[in-house]
Amino acid sequence: MNNHPNGFHVAFVGNPNCGKTTLFNAVTGSKLKVANWPGVTVEKKEGTVEFENEKLILIDTPGIYSLSTYTIEEKVTRNCILDDDIEVIVNVVDASNLERNLYLTLQLLELGKPIVMALNMMDVVEERGMEIDLHRFPEMLCDIPVVPVSAIKKRGLDILLHAIVHHKEAVTLGEVFSYSDELEDKISKLEVIMGAKYPNHSSARWHAIKLLEDDEEVMSEHPIDVSRIVDKSYAREIIQAKYSYIDGIIEECLFNKDAKAAQTDKVDKILTHPILGVPCFLLIMAVVFLLTFTLGDFIKGYLEILLGFLQDGVSAAFEAAHVAEWLKGLVVDGIIAGVGGILTFLPNIVILFIALAILEDSGYMARVAYVMDGIMGKLGLSGRAFLPMILGFGCTVPAIMATRALETTKDRRKTMLITPFMSCSARLPIYVLISGLFFGKLAPLVSFLMYVLGIVIALLTAFILNIFDKNKNTYNLLIELPEYKRPNMRSIRIYVWNKVKDYLTKAGTTIFIASIIVWFLLNVGTHGFTENASTSFAGFAAQKIAPLLAPCGLNMWEFVVALIAGISAKEVVVTSISVLFSSAAAGGSLLDGIKNVYPMFTAANALALMVFCLLYTPCIATIATIKKESESIKFTLVSIVFQILVAYGVSALVFNLARLFIR
Ligand code: GDP
Ligand code: MG
Repeated sequence: MNNHPNGFHVAFVGNPNCGKTTLFNAVTGSKLKVANWPGVTVEKKEGTVEFENEKLILIDTPGIYSLSTYTIEEKVTRNCILDDDIEVIVNVVDASNLERNLYLTLQLLELGKPIVMALNMMDVVEERGMEIDLHRFPEMLCDIPVVPVSAIKKRGLDILLHAIVHHKEAVTLGEVFSYSDELEDKISKLEVIMGAKYPNHSSARWHAIKLLEDDEEVMSEHPIDVSRIVDKSYAREIIQAKYSYIDGIIEECLFNKDAKAAQTDKVDKILTHPILGVPCFLLIMAVVFLLTFTLGDFIKGYLEILLGFLQDGVSAAFEAAHVAEWLKGLVVDGIIAGVGGILTFLPNIVILFIALAILEDSGYMARVAYVMDGIMGKLGLSGRAFLPMILGFGCTVPAIMATRALETTKDRRKTMLITPFMSCSARLPIYVLISGLFFGKLAPLVSFLMYVLGIVIALLTAFILNIFDKNKNTYNLLIELPEYKRPNMRSIRIYVWNKVKDYLTKAGTTIFIASIIVWFLLNVGTHGFTENASTSFAGFAAQKIAPLLAPCGLNMWEFVVALIAGISAKEVVVTSISVLFSSAAAGGSLLDGIKNVYPMFTAANALALMVFCLLYTPCIATIATIKKESESIKFTLVSIVFQILVAYGVSALVFNLARLFIR
């Protein structure tokens, strides 16, 4: 019997890259109609096929991981399949990646509509020697027809069409598995209320579950009074229940998982463990920074010797040529010491970037976001917000741009506010220099603690903001966890080289210019050139500001100059400190120089200085990016003031605590 003279509608639904389009093309041939989905620029492909005297109108939907409404694709696909016109949903599943694909399947089953599963990529499954128990598998999925196919080899297509035609009336039960008793109780109560108010509603169970997940769209389309049943969002619990059911399916139905996937699973048991995951992350970062220090410092030592030769050589040459004293000072103490000093940190930076590139390329970074999701959720941010934060270890500018991936303006701004607290690579030279001077063997540990402190302050800020947030969000994280792979040398080389290029460009432009400006401000005063920097313009202004920093142990105008100059680029803090104390060092080390001027400057002051550098206003480039991305001058100013206040407060706290222990 054919109720549909014009054909009946079949939607192909599945994860991105599961082969929907390939399958769609294989089934429909070339009879296509391409348009856009109403209101959005997402392509809609429709095709027809005749099979066993039935006319099927097939629709290729955008790939999705979930039936929520965060992305345009999700909205389009969800609206399409909730539409009563759709008579059969064909869930296209990548069989070589079952675990990841089944999450959507479980959601589709809860809809209670007729579903046929196209188990695609069977050629890959066979090639890898994996086996799927095709008897037990459908049993665990409400007995829907499961048809193994290979879209690329055009295998199993007729059987699939046959299943579609013959199962269009076979409504699934909607109850794939049971949630906890508490949830099931709420679900049935909601179903009753739904049934009374909307008797014709076909997906009552799905609807009830969505209500428990606090889904706004469902709520606004079919409003009912749920206040006594839905006291909070149960989204996390519901997601977890689904994943543990999927674990069960994989356990029972999938055999000879290929060696690589099995390995990934084994490693992930530890690295993405809910409790062990975070310490693992910190440990890995600790190893990275230890490497950055030990190996980097080793090479840096040689570069410093080279730089010394260069300075002496140029000095001697200038003297021989009777060049004016001020010009010699500018070139030797301003430019060579400034720019050259920054270049000696290149080994540390290169090692840091190699390590970050390896972690990224191997697939580990995606897991960090996954591990942090639990914590981020409690802070009112999605796990996705941790990705920009990790990028912040490299450079804050791209990290701020990466906040574009977040859904709402509120989330973006929150993340923009806290991302600068992550120690970018420009802050590494500051830690290397200062901790090296004052902490000896403990220097790597102290620097590592700066990184940890940055993360803690960032999370703490998010936490406090969340307390005051009246419309808290809940997030359901679905980050795709790729298989681990051996990092590709080529992509690492490209990544590191790009970063090194950026660093060199910065040394040659911003830092070069800043060094010259700082030198002039330090050598010119109201009476023209001055030998004594404290009577220079910079010295004069900094002396006015310095007393304000007394609580942080930084009532010293030289450091104020360094901090202000550091807003041009954080590395300039290092160059300024070197320049400012070089004459006081009288040929001795930089430490001697500082101690000669400030005998009371101890490791406690040094610690406060590092903390201040970690937290205060980011560099000009970052500020400009925040302005551009937030499109708000007010927000940009607020964030600058906020960061200065945090830097001030925390460094004062650290200083006074440290003073109790360090004399
Ligand atoms: P969509 O995002 O779901 O539309 O996926 P596509 O149809 O674009 O396919 C994604 C990739 O998987 C393409 O490179 C296809 O060639 C490939 N692909 C699709 N089906 C199969 C299959 O059955 N076997 C294999 N080996 N590859 C497939
Ligand atoms: Mg496609």
